[in-house]
Amino acid sequence: MEQSRVLFGATEILYTIRRSLRRRTVSIVVDANLGVSVSAPAATPVGRLDAVVLKKARWILKHLQEFAHLKDRLQPKKFVSGEAYLFLGREYRLEVVSQDGRGGPVVVGDSIQVPVGSHVAGSQPAAAVREMLELWYRLRAAETFLERVASWAPRVEVPVPRVVIRGQKRRWGTCDCRGAIRFNWRVVQAPERLIDYVVVHELAHLREKNHSKTYWALVGRILPDYRDRRKELNRLGPHLDW
Ligand SMILES: [Zn+2]
Repeated sequence: MEQSRVLFGATEILYTIRRSLRRRTVSIVVDANLGVSVSAPAATPVGRLDAVVLKKARWILKHLQEFAHLKDRLQPKKFVSGEAYLFLGREYRLEVVSQDGRGGPVVVGDSIQVPVGSHVAGSQPAAAVREMLELWYRLRAAETFLERVASWAPRVEVPVPRVVIRGQKRRWGTCDCRGAIRFNWRVVQAPERLIDYVVVHELAHLREKNHSKTYWALVGRILPDYRDRRKELNRLGPHLDW
């Protein structure tokens, strides 16, 4: 496998070269798993490819950093101080605080502080932290969904339904035939525009049960950019699942 490297400031970019007799242009691909690769016509000198990579270095590094960031966020949660947690689309640092007495998690500036009694803090706090965090998210989810449902229901022209908060994995919301809507608390980690998509999606099911053309036309009248929101939610989904 042919490789080369260029130096951009203090950062070295290593890349793989794929040559092809049929190719006429040079193109660069940055892949989360394979890194940087450059496809080029068979006879292109390496010096010329280095120059192309150097010219695109800023763009390449931006992508590499994004991937590193995503990988970091997809690590299984350990429920320890310093970890990032999302709430309404904003990132907060978890701070596990040793504290006796009552009280649940609180947001202070950019951090979510989770108090853990000193009898737990010494041994295995992760399970206790997880439990408290999930409870906190469920309460925030209940507040948020009740408010958003009440605000969207008139626009979907349906009566305000009963709202239930659940923890089903891989499902953001479900609507039963008796008119109750179940929302996954995990959605409250997402930005409000995506929460609103989930809310409108389920409210619209109170009028149209399945995903028919009529159904999507209804959603489209209420949220004209619903396709973008759905795409964003799909992309964010794996990061919400813990
Ligand atoms: Zn649906």
